[in-house]
Amino acid sequence: MNRWLIRRVIKASGFRSGYRIPWNWKLGASLYNKESFKKTYREEAFKLILREVSRKSKFYREHLERYNLKNVKTPEDLGDFFTYPEQLESHSEDFICQKPDIYFETSGSSGKPKRVGFTYEDFLLLAFSTAQGFEKMGMEKNDLYLNAYSYGIWVPGLIIQNALGMLGVPAIPVGHQKAEVIFEKILTYKPSIVGILPSSLIIITKLAEEYNSELPKIRWFLTGAQHIPTKTKEWIKSVWNADVINGYGATEFGGTFAMECEEGKGYHFNDLMFWVEIIDPDQKGYGELAVTTLAFHSMPLIRYRIGDITRFVHDSCHCSLGTEKIDYILGRKDDMFKAAGNNLYPGYFSKAVVEGVFLGVEIDTREGIDCIRIRVTEGSKTDLKKLDTFILDTIEKGEIIVETKFESLDSRIRRKIPKLIDLRPR
Ligand SMILES: [Zn+2]
Repeated sequence: MNRWLIRRVIKASGFRSGYRIPWNWKLGASLYNKESFKKTYREEAFKLILREVSRKSKFYREHLERYNLKNVKTPEDLGDFFTYPEQLESHSEDFICQKPDIYFETSGSSGKPKRVGFTYEDFLLLAFSTAQGFEKMGMEKNDLYLNAYSYGIWVPGLIIQNALGMLGVPAIPVGHQKAEVIFEKILTYKPSIVGILPSSLIIITKLAEEYNSELPKIRWFLTGAQHIPTKTKEWIKSVWNADVINGYGATEFGGTFAMECEEGKGYHFNDLMFWVEIIDPDQKGYGELAVTTLAFHSMPLIRYRIGDITRFVHDSCHCSLGTEKIDYILGRKDDMFKAAGNNLYPGYFSKAVVEGVFLGVEIDTREGIDCIRIRVTEGSKTDLKKLDTFILDTIEKGEIIVETKFESLDSRIRRKIPKLIDLRPR
């Protein structure tokens, strides 16, 4: 693939305003499925972004000083250099290369929000790639999208709104409201697609079950931020006769990062805009996700370790998204805990939930034995036999107690629910 042309795709400032799509973005999208384009694009974009951050950002200038950047061709070449959420929390201004036009926030692990800035061009590129994904999934002008994501300082509301604008799909910007309000708007507007948090989706599905008249014909629910077990999906599907497609993302890299495989084989991520690595993988391939943003100019992130544990999925699939995949998120690195000598993640216990929503685990001790309570929403069903064999073995040996704990779920629920509550005395 011609490197000059690829550099034009990366660099050309065709950006105008609003929904006018620059030619280089369109060209990039049309070449997207060519493996040789993707490989060369990523290498070139990485070199350029590295040069840019080491010149313009205080943080990177200081940290990358020890490298001869001419010899750095891939993120792996940076060895032990990584960036972390704590650094973004404590001095996000030092990451800035170009003055942000728009800021978003996400709750930080220490309770302090992380602020992430994007240029207007970064922001619209994200919307463009989201629109490309939607288009591949079959969204069209005749659809009507009800967006029940927050339009506030959390990223998905506005990004999705702009993506819909680019596709010419009309939108109803309901925002994150009480589930009863969302349900009423669905009945009023009869959208064909609804973007919604899983916890709200469950409540509106219960309302739909009790509803006596005909429900609007919804094609898909696009959800994110929480995992939904297969049985729950089937239940939602049977009530609404609609598909449920889950996404995975993080505000730090623009919210709309990956979308669930139609065959349920993990998440397809945007492998053109992001260079993804799995750090220190175990025997099963699970390690920490590290993401390098290749296309943002305001606050590029190099090898950003968000703390989520996942692995690459190499199983081929026939779905329309067709890009590289990562597996469902096992948990957060900080959520790893020890029980009966095992390193465990809350995600291991989500496998027991066959119906309902998994909220996390709570650990306590009972007569010296670790007791793990699987926290689920009321009405959920668990089947402990679905747990991994090594956990089942430990249960049978009497080394841990595993129980289910029901928690009520209402529409005021916080978006981020702690996955791990450790009540054991220290
Ligand atoms: Zn797929």
